[in-house]
Amino acid sequence: MLKVNVLTIFPELFPGFLGSSLTGKALEEHKFELNAINIRDYALDKHKSVDDTPCGGGAGMIMKPDVLGRAIKENHSSGRIIYMSPRGLPLNQSKVKELSKETELTIICGRFEGIDERVIEAYNIEEISIGDYILTGGEQAALVMLDAVVRLLPGVLGNEESIKEESFEDYLLEHPQYTRPIDWEGRMVPEVLLSGHHQKIEVWRKQKREIATKDKRPDLYKIYLESKKS
Ligand code: SAH
Repeated sequence: MLKVNVLTIFPELFPGFLGSSLTGKALEEHKFELNAINIRDYALDKHKSVDDTPCGGGAGMIMKPDVLGRAIKENHSSGRIIYMSPRGLPLNQSKVKELSKETELTIICGRFEGIDERVIEAYNIEEISIGDYILTGGEQAALVMLDAVVRLLPGVLGNEESIKEESFEDYLLEHPQYTRPIDWEGRMVPEVLLSGHHQKIEVWRKQKREIATKDKRPDLYKIYLESKKS
């Protein structure tokens, strides 16, 4: 079972939306464990301070290495340590898959201007970003990442098949999807999908996946073309 330790100064943000729907059920059924640890509990001064001004000057506050270091030392037993950070490698489905195979993850959520660099060095911490924009805190990013990881854990989705054909598997986006009614305000479901001809449907879907990827994500389409060559 996957054990997740989240280090945060806002433990009340967990499990957040992970407590609902499929991930909520998975949590209830102990398909993963989520421990939200309050970094502030590891501050030793009477004000329980977790941050201080940046050395060298500049705006904002930096999370203190001594406090964060103690929180890591006392809660992390094994496995990788991740810092949610806009400076990290962008999260993608293959990273999500990799993380879903781990047994323990410790995730640090930054606030203010981020954390002292020495903590990252000392614990060989991996930095992961959820996109090229700045959030107010790592909690939101951690929840997004965990949502993607938890849905890949065995038995969480129910329909394992649906994972195989999703966007980003084999570098293609998903084909368009339709359901009833067949005629919605004069817009018809493509006929081939009603034909019952599985092979034709497969070919149509693959084509649509290629077209969607080429149009919407030329960067991904390039990788797809290269992957076909090798
Ligand atoms: N000054 C920092 C941003 C700090 S934002 C910089 O310019 O790089 C405060 C915290 O929010 C960060 O410590 C990080 O934990 C989190 N965060 C912000 N944007 C993020 C993103 N795109 N992905 C992951 N975490 C993010």
